[in-house]
Amino acid sequence: PAEPELEALQHADVARLLPVPGAESDKYRRGVVGIAAGSARYPGAAVLAVAGALRGGAGAVRYAGPAARDVIARFPETLVSDRGPKHAGRVQAWVVGPGIGDDAGPVAEVLVADVPVLIDADGLRLADASAVRARRAPTLMTPHAGEAAALLGVEREEVEAGRLAAARELAGRYGATVLLKGSTTLVAGPGAGDGGGNEDGKGNGNGNGTAVRVNPTGTSWLATAGSGDVLSGLAGSLLAAGLSARDAGSVAAYLHGLAGRHAADGAPVGAHDVAEAVPGAWRDVM
Ligand code: AMP
Ligand code: MG
Repeated sequence: PAEPELEALQHADVARLLPVPGAESDKYRRGVVGIAAGSARYPGAAVLAVAGALRGGAGAVRYAGPAARDVIARFPETLVSDRGPKHAGRVQAWVVGPGIGDDAGPVAEVLVADVPVLIDADGLRLADASAVRARRAPTLMTPHAGEAAALLGVEREEVEAGRLAAARELAGRYGATVLLKGSTTLVAGPGAGDGGGNEDGKGNGNGNGTAVRVNPTGTSWLATAGSGDVLSGLAGSLLAAGLSARDAGSVAAYLHGLAGRHAADGAPVGAHDVAEAVPGAWRDVM
């Protein structure tokens, strides 16, 4: 029988995937997530990505970039360095891109790392496609419709009109898992053998044979500046904690949507409010 093309994310599935530390765990076993985000012009993107990462289940957050002072002032628990990701200590997953502007350096540095990488925002534009395809460790890309359109070389309207096809096409072109953001969020690819666990390898090229997951928890209150940066940090933290790219993206979208609902509760909120509501969302799921 043909597999369904779409599958709605279920509460019970997300609950099962949450990385809860065992009694004997420690911060390294929980995973260290590296954040390469922000710039002199956009320091806030770094702060928001770290805010998300601190609530995603990794045992430590390491920040490498030009907004180190801003990050440490807001989050003293972060390990910071103002040098590039190449000089950072060991991490289990990288998030690269939010607010980095035009500096392709950090993107190239993390793409050669043999750990899962999440690419978002400016990083999507700056990432060399062949460097992404050459990666052996999993890659998770998190474009909104405009970013997806730019990568595909089409108009935004075309992506909006065929979101499922666009997500699959991108997953195929990059050999990556693609989380396409918007009023509904889709998680496509990378293909067979991505059912969970620490590995999820490369896909079969087009995400076919694997249902695209749809997140049902979003709210339009999430349409606010910095919201996507929080999602990136959250998903990166889940990658560092050992989830596959497909599961990390799915769980992050689910928690982010619930956190948006909690934070907003019918009134406008800022992205930092969404990050602060993630623990409440997590408790709801457990
Ligand atoms: P970004 O555009 O990168 O800041 O990301 C925006 C975030 O808000 C993504 O997680 C989107 O899925 C979410 N979002 C934006 N608009 C809506 C909407 N109308 N309904 C639900 N979620 C949304
Ligand atoms: Mg964004």
